[in-house]
Amino acid sequence: MKILSYLNRILLALIIGITFIIQPLNSEAKAASTLRELRAELSKLQAQKKSNENEKKSSQTEIKNKTAAIDNAYSEIKVAENKIELAIQKIAESEKEIETITAETNELMRFMQITSGENAYMEYISNAGSMTEMIMRLSAVDQITDYNKEQLNKLDNLIKENEQLKIDMANYQKQLNSNITAYENRISKLDARLAELDELADSIDDQIKNQKSLIDYYVSLGCKEDQDLQQCVSVANNAGWLKPLKKGTVTSLWGYRKDPISGVTKFHNGIDLAGNSEGTPVYAAAAGTVAGITKKSSCGGNKVYVHVYVKGVAYTTYYFHLLTINVKVGDKVSTDTVIGTVGGGKQTKSYDKCSTGAHLHFGVAKGFYLGGGKEGYSSYSTMVSKSISPPGFGGKGWKFTSRTQFYNS
Ligand SMILES: [Zn+2]
Repeated sequence: MKILSYLNRILLALIIGITFIIQPLNSEAKAASTLRELRAELSKLQAQKKSNENEKKSSQTEIKNKTAAIDNAYSEIKVAENKIELAIQKIAESEKEIETITAETNELMRFMQITSGENAYMEYISNAGSMTEMIMRLSAVDQITDYNKEQLNKLDNLIKENEQLKIDMANYQKQLNSNITAYENRISKLDARLAELDELADSIDDQIKNQKSLIDYYVSLGCKEDQDLQQCVSVANNAGWLKPLKKGTVTSLWGYRKDPISGVTKFHNGIDLAGNSEGTPVYAAAAGTVAGITKKSSCGGNKVYVHVYVKGVAYTTYYFHLLTINVKVGDKVSTDTVIGTVGGGKQTKSYDKCSTGAHLHFGVAKGFYLGGGKEGYSSYSTMVSKSISPPGFGGKGWKFTSRTQFYNS
C-alpha cells in the first residue's frame, strides 16, 4: 500500500511536472485525472514535438538564408566601395580639367592683353579688315569663352554628381552594414532557439516516454477511460487477503501432488476448497480488476482472473471450476463482490473434465497475467511458474468458517 501510493505520488508529480513544462503560463492547467485525459496530454506532447521539429527546420532554413544575405551584403559593400573610388577619381579628373580650361581661358585673355595693351581684346575685334571679319572674330572669342563656360558647367555638374554618388554609396554601405548586424543578431537568436529546441526535444521525448508508461500502468490496473485514476488505484490496493468463500475445507494443497484423475504426479497451481454446494457465492479474495475470463474450459471450466495489489505487490488471483460467472473483463471488484458461484460438480461435468466434485480451485500468482505495464506478462505457463501457495490457509483438511483477513508480511 505504501509502496504503491509512493509510486503513484511519483507518477502524479511527473504528470504535474509535464503539465507545468508544457503550459507554464496556464494557471488553469491541471493534472490528468482519467486515462482519456492522459491520452489527450500524450497527443498534445506529440503535437508539441512535431511543431518543435517544424520550427527547427524553418529556423535552419532561415539561418541559411540570412547567412547568404550577409555574404551578399558584403559583396554589395565591395561594389559600393568601387563606385566611391571611381567617383573620387572622376571628381579629381574633373577638377584637373577645370584647372586646364580655366588656365586656357586665362591665357587667351592674358595673351590678348599682353599683345595689344588693355584694349587688345577690343582692338583684336575692331582691327578686323571688314565687317565680316569683325563679326567672325567677335564670334570666335565668344565661342571660345562660351565653349569653356559650357565645359566648366559640365565638369561642375559631373563633380556634383560624383559627390552625390559618394554620399549615396556611403549611405548604402551604412544600410548594408546595419542589415548585416541585424542578420547576425537574428542568426544568433535562431542559434539560441535551436539549442533550446534540441533541449526541449530531449525533455519532450522523456515526457512522451513517461506518459506512455503511465498510461500502460493505469491500463494494467484495468482503469476505464473516464474513471478517476485516484479511485482506480485506491480500489486496487489491499492490506491483506480474505478467503474467497464464507466457509470451506482444504482438500488439495498448492504444489506437486498425485493428480486425482490421472494418478500422475503433477504441479497443482492453486488450492482446492470443498465443503460448499454448487451455486455457493465466490468472492474476490482481494479487491482488484477482472483481467480475464475463460468459459467452459475442458480443464477448469469457467475461470475468472482478477488483478490485485496487496501491500503494493501485484498479483493475479484466479478462480476455476465456476458454475456461473457474475463479472466481466475490466470490472472493478471489491472483496464483497460475488464474482461467480461454486461449480465443479454435476452441473459443470459435461465440459469440465478436471474436477471430481463441487469445489473452488483458488490460485495466486505474482505479477499480472493477461496484463500490460511492467507487472504484466501473457503466458499461462509463466503464471503457473509464478504461482504461490495462497496465503492464509492451513494444511490439507483444514476448515474455515469465516472469510477472516490474513495479513502476510
Ligand atoms: Zn485445483
